[in-house]
Amino acid sequence: MLYNEKKEACIIDPGCYFQEERDKLTLFIKENGLKPVLLLNTHCHLDHVFGNKFISDTWQLKPHIHEKEKPVLAFAPQSAQMWGLPFDNYEGELVFLKEGGKITIGEDSFDILFTPGHSPGSISFYSEKGGFVMGGDVLFSGSIGRTDLPGGDFHTLINSIQTQFFTLPDDTKVYSGHGPVTTIGFEKMNNPFVKLY
Ligand SMILES: [Zn+2]
Ligand SMILES: [Zn+2]
Repeated sequence: MLYNEKKEACIIDPGCYFQEERDKLTLFIKENGLKPVLLLNTHCHLDHVFGNKFISDTWQLKPHIHEKEKPVLAFAPQSAQMWGLPFDNYEGELVFLKEGGKITIGEDSFDILFTPGHSPGSISFYSEKGGFVMGGDVLFSGSIGRTDLPGGDFHTLINSIQTQFFTLPDDTKVYSGHGPVTTIGFEKMNNPFVKLY
C-alpha cells in the first residue's frame, strides 16, 4: 500500500485471504487515518487478487487491471480450487489500464509499464519522482517471475525486463510481489537470469 500526505491510499495486489489479514489491513488504514482511493492489480494470479472483493466491498473501489489479464482473473476461482483455497472472486466492473498511460493519486502519478511474460497482461507502476517501481512478479531480488503458468513466456519476460526495467535509472527501487526490495542497478549487475542486451 502506498499513500500520500493527504492520506489517500493506493492498494496494490491485495492478498488478504484470511480474516486476520483483512483485520490487519483495516486496522492499519484506521490507525493511520487513511482513505483508500485506488485499487491496482499488477496481474491477476490468485495471491494478487484474493482481496479484491473485500477491498471493493469495504471501500467501493474497482480493480484496475490490464485488459489482457481478464482471462487470468476469470480463471482465478478454478485455480483456487486446485490449491484447495476456494474464494469469492470479484465479479463487478473492472477498469482497464493501458501501457504508456499514467495513473494519478492526488498530486502523484505512476507511469504504466507493460511488462508481460510472467502473466500475459502484467503491468508495473513506475514513480519517477519516488524513484521506485511496483513490479509485481516480473523481477525479484536475484530472480525473475516464473513463466510456466498459462500465458507465461520466458523470452517475453526477459524482453520486458530489458526494455521496461533496465532502462530505468540504476537507483530505482524495485518492490516485487514477493521477497526483498532491490534496485535496477543491482539486478543489472547481479541477476543471473537477465543479461544486459
Ligand atoms: Zn504471479
Ligand atoms: Zn505472486
